[in-house]
Amino acid sequence: MIVLQAGFLKSATARDQWPPADLPEVAFCGRSNVGKSSCLNVLTGRRQLARVSRTPGRTRLINFFDVRVAERTRSGGRGPEQALRLVDLPGYGFASGPREEREQWKGMIEGYLTGRQTLRALVVLVDGQIAVQPSDVEMVRWGSSLHRRIVVVATKLDRLARARRPAQIQKIAAALDVPRERVIAFSAKEKFGVEELWRELAGGRGAAAG
Ligand code: GDP
Repeated sequence: MIVLQAGFLKSATARDQWPPADLPEVAFCGRSNVGKSSCLNVLTGRRQLARVSRTPGRTRLINFFDVRVAERTRSGGRGPEQALRLVDLPGYGFASGPREEREQWKGMIEGYLTGRQTLRALVVLVDGQIAVQPSDVEMVRWGSSLHRRIVVVATKLDRLARARRPAQIQKIAAALDVPRERVIAFSAKEKFGVEELWRELAGGRGAAAG
């Protein structure tokens, strides 16, 4: 994929702050430190993108980024342009905080997951090096129960010996109860899995839930 443009649009909490539902959206979530910022950076080739999400005051908000991409054609040219919105959801870290904070986090995410018609897929990032955590299972179940199309990104897979990766992906798919082909072996460090992830996010795929 060729990223023609990527930029921060706005931060939001409540629905009345969301941008107009005028572009297909893909939302990213995961435990803190899972590699979400690194993934967004590599995906877009823009370092400043995730930096914006980390600005004090923005880490608990939903951050919207607009991108324009085009597929690379076989002949090395550029396919038709597509506009897409990447949505960075706050990490589950807050889910284990004080009750009031937790409720607030849950309400904000649930509002977005249930109320956003243009949401095409929910990307759940899991640490590919360690076993799937209960919070990952909970997140995937929650997204599925809200009829969202789930794409799983197994991050930091470069830390695992190459020969062990297929079994690990299989294990993650089984633990999360998602089809094997919806789990993407990813490394921001070695930059693999990037095209596979774009394929799941862009194009005509996944316009419908399920
Ligand atoms: P976030 O909190 O989910 O946004 O996570 P970050 O993107 O900041 O990454 C957390 C830590 O994991 C950082 O120290 C990164 O350098 C490291 N990390 C992220 N992605 C990878 C990866 O693909 N491979 C390796 N080896 N480390 C990674």
